[in-house]
Amino acid sequence: MTTPTVVISLDLELSWGTFDLAYDADVVKMARWTHDVGAPRLLNHLTSNRLSATWAVVGAMMRSSLPDVSGLPEVNYPHFSKPWFSYVPKQGNEETHPEWFGASLVEMIRKAEPEQEIGFHSFSHAPFGLRAMTRERAVAEYRYCAKVARELGIAPASFVFPRNLVAYLRELRDAGFDCFRDVDETPLRCTNRTLTSIAMVWADFIGLWPRMIEPSLKEGLVSIPGSLMIRYAAGWRKYIPDASRLRRLTKGLERVRRSGGVFHVWFHPENLYAQWPRLENVVARFLQELGNLVRNGEVKCLTMGQLAKEFRSQLAVEDVCDSKLENTPSPRKRDSRQDFGAQVTKQADLVPLRLTPILASSISQKPGGAT
Ligand SMILES: [Zn+2]
Repeated sequence: MTTPTVVISLDLELSWGTFDLAYDADVVKMARWTHDVGAPRLLNHLTSNRLSATWAVVGAMMRSSLPDVSGLPEVNYPHFSKPWFSYVPKQGNEETHPEWFGASLVEMIRKAEPEQEIGFHSFSHAPFGLRAMTRERAVAEYRYCAKVARELGIAPASFVFPRNLVAYLRELRDAGFDCFRDVDETPLRCTNRTLTSIAMVWADFIGLWPRMIEPSLKEGLVSIPGSLMIRYAAGWRKYIPDASRLRRLTKGLERVRRSGGVFHVWFHPENLYAQWPRLENVVARFLQELGNLVRNGEVKCLTMGQLAKEFRSQLAVEDVCDSKLENTPSPRKRDSRQDFGAQVTKQADLVPLRLTPILASSISQKPGGAT
């Protein structure tokens, strides 16, 4: 089992995260706020507590204007029938359209101390894992990410799929990435994605204990599932009490400190905008508490890339031990990968969920916020 570790991954996307679902003045306002205020403030909360995070940034916004995208095969989703780059200002740049471009933000994050990791949140935020996504487009997205990484001098290691729809892993590995954020391991078991989403909102309301995760290998990549997403506070979600949100986060810290494993928290800097500064205050309190634990040596705070590296070197050590065991007659050889990847949370932690019809209908309304 991994020694007590906290990982924070952030999906930084400005307008790229929502334009295919909704694109209006509010989205532009949220994205501009994130560019000018939200992301710099969040970075400051991290650095002032001496913490590092993985910033998974949409590749196309890492430059100050849109690069040549003619090498990306078109993708046609039923929910967005226009050409994918329709809304992106072709002649615009970061100065005129900070809701789309964030080269200076990336620069600011790269210069921060302690060091932050720049990961990729795809190149154009086209969702993978949907029927319309082709292998050709997926490979081209990876290729474009690798190209931006080369131009900026970033070693591409960590990848976060748009909307956490995981697909084309082998191709991701072939593009040179090392790890990805896998789907959340949730404490509530439901039969489908919508029910799981409803269950997770309920978990926020009641401040349920989050699950700890363990990395594992998938298609040669290190899979790092999420433990808890800090949910957008717009619409009906503003009724989730701040105290309940903070309680879940501090319970996660308590569990990882006592039981070990990895507490993987993730969210969108964009989502700090609604009801500001409520959610920022929750995040600031959480980071302060985490910073204290790290200073006391009770937990580590690693980026996704650092955790993947640590996991691989642990596997290499265990491989050496296993090969030595093979040459000895008695002890039973253990499957070290399975052992390392064993779930920290026992079955007893899984809570079956029952919702009243009224609550279920009130929380299954239109999703909002950056994804
Ligand atoms: Zn996203």
